[in-house]
Amino acid sequence: MTGRPTSSGRPPACPVCGEPALPAHRPFCSVRCGEVDLQRWLAGAYAIPAEEGEEQPSDEPGDDPGQGRHGSL
Ligand SMILES: [Zn+2]
Repeated sequence: MTGRPTSSGRPPACPVCGEPALPAHRPFCSVRCGEVDLQRWLAGAYAIPAEEGEEQPSDEPGDDPGQGRHGSL
């Protein structure tokens, strides 16, 4: 355990092109690479089949509380 580079070390490589990332654009080397990664991420997100999300509580047909039970017949 000697010397663990915290902030000063080799810069992380840009996950898109492998160039050393710039602090201004971390973790990418440029804005463009950030956009590329975002596009990939979005593509992946869309590729994932969405869970059958919120089940919308549909109005229960039948009982209608409020509208008189002893209807007008
Ligand atoms: Zn890059």
